[in-house]
Amino acid sequence: APAPASNFLRAVIEKDLANGTYASRRWARSPGDAAHHAAGEPDPAKIRTRFPPEPNGYLHVGHAKSICLNFGLARDYGGVCHMRFDDTNPEKESVEYVESIKEAVQWLGFGWDAFGASQLYFASDYFDFMYRAAEYLITAGHAYIDQQTPDEMRASRGTLTEPGTNSPWRDRPADESLALFREMRDGRHPDGAMVLRAKIDMASPNINMRDPAIYRIKHAHHHNTGDKWCIYPMYTYAHPLEDAVEGVTHSICTLEFEDQRPFYDWVLERLAEGGLLAHPLPKQYEFARLNLTYVVTSKRKLMQLVTEKHVSGWDDPRMPTIVGLRRRGYTAEALQLFAERIGVSKADSWIDYSTLEGALRDDLDGRAARAMAVLDPLRLKLTNWDEIFGDRQAEPSSAPVHPHHPERGTRSFNLTREVWIEREDFMEEAPKGYHRLFPGNRARLKYGYVIECTGCEKDADGRITAVLATLVPDTKSGTPGADSVKVKGVITWVSVAEGLSAEVRLYDRLFTEAHPDAGGRDFLTVMNPDSVRSVQAFVEPGLAAAVADDKFQFERHGYFVADRVDSVAGRPVFNRAVTLKDSWGK
Ligand code: ATP
Ligand code: MG
Ligand code: MG
Repeated sequence: APAPASNFLRAVIEKDLANGTYASRRWARSPGDAAHHAAGEPDPAKIRTRFPPEPNGYLHVGHAKSICLNFGLARDYGGVCHMRFDDTNPEKESVEYVESIKEAVQWLGFGWDAFGASQLYFASDYFDFMYRAAEYLITAGHAYIDQQTPDEMRASRGTLTEPGTNSPWRDRPADESLALFREMRDGRHPDGAMVLRAKIDMASPNINMRDPAIYRIKHAHHHNTGDKWCIYPMYTYAHPLEDAVEGVTHSICTLEFEDQRPFYDWVLERLAEGGLLAHPLPKQYEFARLNLTYVVTSKRKLMQLVTEKHVSGWDDPRMPTIVGLRRRGYTAEALQLFAERIGVSKADSWIDYSTLEGALRDDLDGRAARAMAVLDPLRLKLTNWDEIFGDRQAEPSSAPVHPHHPERGTRSFNLTREVWIEREDFMEEAPKGYHRLFPGNRARLKYGYVIECTGCEKDADGRITAVLATLVPDTKSGTPGADSVKVKGVITWVSVAEGLSAEVRLYDRLFTEAHPDAGGRDFLTVMNPDSVRSVQAFVEPGLAAAVADDKFQFERHGYFVADRVDSVAGRPVFNRAVTLKDSWGK
C-alpha cells in the first residue's frame, strides 16, 4: 500500500490523481493562453500549482514556505508550478520587484521551465480576458455598475450580524451597466466615480458575497500594460480567472482567503455557464501562513524598516527577506529543510525562530569548511620560543578542512611566537572548573602544542595586554608525544605574524520580543538595540582567499559567511549566520 500522504494537501492531490479528476480536462483556450504554451500542448492531466506574488516588495521567509510548498508539490507529483506575477494593482508594483522575485525563486532552487520552455506568467496579460468576462457577467445579469459613493457602499454593506442593503443601482438594466462599464474603460469617468459589482446576495452571512466590487477606475500607469487601461480588476475577481486561464488545478493560498473561496467558486461557475471557461475548474485550498517569532513578515512593515532606515536595506542581514537571509549566510537548502520541517497545516501557529536557525546549522555542519578565528583578540607570547625552535620563526600546523570529510584535505597555517587568543581564554584568578589559561595551568593550542601559562602583562590602567606562556616540548598535535601531557582546555588561536585582520559582524535578532507586532504594538518600540555589532577579528591566513558567499564554521563561534556586498578580494568581511548552539534565552 502507498504511504499515507504527509499532509492534507498531498492527500487531496493524491486523491485527485487516483480519481483522474483532471484527466479529461480540455485545455482552456483563452486569450494569451496559446502564446503561453507555444512550446507545445501540455499534458492536461498533470497537476498545476502556482506561486503568485504581487510584485510590490521583496519576498520574505513566509513566501519561501509558499514557494517550497507549491514548487515542491509540482515536482513531487510530476506536475508544473507556474511562476505568476499577480500584478493587477498598478500603483505599488515595479519591475525592480519583479526582478528581485525571479532571482529569489531561482536562488531557492526552483525554476519555471515547463514543457521545454521557460515560462513566466503575468496576471496583467489577461486583462483583455478579464474585461471580456466582466462584460459577460453584466450581460448575463450577474454584475452591475454601482454609482454610490465609497461611503454609501461601506454603510450599505452591513455587518457580521446585520445583513447589507441593496444598492439603488442594483436592478438597473444590463445594457445601461454595459454602456457605463465601457465608458469606464474609455476613461470617461474619474477614479471612484463608480465600480462594477458582482450581483450575488446582500444578505449573505459571508460579507465577501455581498456584491463584491470586481472592477474599479484607476487612472494609473502599469509596469506591464503601460497606459492601456484605466480600470483594473479587483484581486478577488482576478485571481480565480488567472488560475483558470492557466489551467491551475490546486490553487493554494493562506487561511485568510478561506472566506473568499465561495466567491472564487462563484466567479468560475458563472463563467463556465457562459462558456468562457470549462470544467474541471481550479479549486482553492488554504493553509496556515508562516508566523515566525522575533520577526515581522508584513511587506508594509518590512518596507517601513527599509524606508525609515532602521536597517541598511532589503538585504540587510537582519531582515527576514530572502535576500537578507541569503546575505546573512542562509543557504537555499537550509530554507528548503526549514519548510519541510514546519510542514503545512490548517491551524495558525507560531514557529520558533530557533527552528529556522536549527535548519541552517544542520545544513552547514556537513559542508562548511572549518577555520579558526579570534573575535576578541588578546596577545599570547610564547616566551620559550627560541629554546624550542632556535632561529625558526614559524612552525607549520595543519587541520582538516572538514573533520568528517578527509577527502577535502587539510588547511595549513603556522604557529609563531606570538598568537592571538580570545580574551575570555585567560583569567588571572580562575574559578573551579575553568580549564583554559591561568598562571600555572596547562592547555593546548589547538592543532599545536600544549602550553603552560606563566602570567600576564598589564598596561598602566591594569588592563591585561598580553598573556605569557611557555611551550611544553614534544607535545605537538599529531606527533607521538601529543598525548604525553594531558590537558582539559583547548584554545583556538591565530598567528599574530600571519593572521588576517577582518571585520566580523555579529548579528542578533532584530526584535527583543517574540511577537514584535502583537496586539497592535508598534514593532519599532521593541527593536533590539544590539542587533549588530562589528568587531575587528583575526582569522586564519587562508581566509584571504574567501570569496563572497563562502561559508565557514569558525571553530567555537558558529557559522559565518563572506558578506556578498562588502567583501573585496583579499579582504573579506564576515557575517555571523548563526551560533554553534542554540543560545537564545540562555
Ligand atoms: P503582504 O500581506 O505582506 O502584503 P502577501 O501575502 O500579500 O504579503 P503576496 O505577494 O500576495 O504577499 O504573496 C504571494 C504568495 O505567498 C501568496 O500565495 C501568499 O499566500 C504567500 N505568502 C505570503 N506570506 C506568507 C506567509 N507568511 N506564509 C506562507 N505563505 C505566505
Ligand atoms: Mg497579496
Ligand atoms: Mg497578504
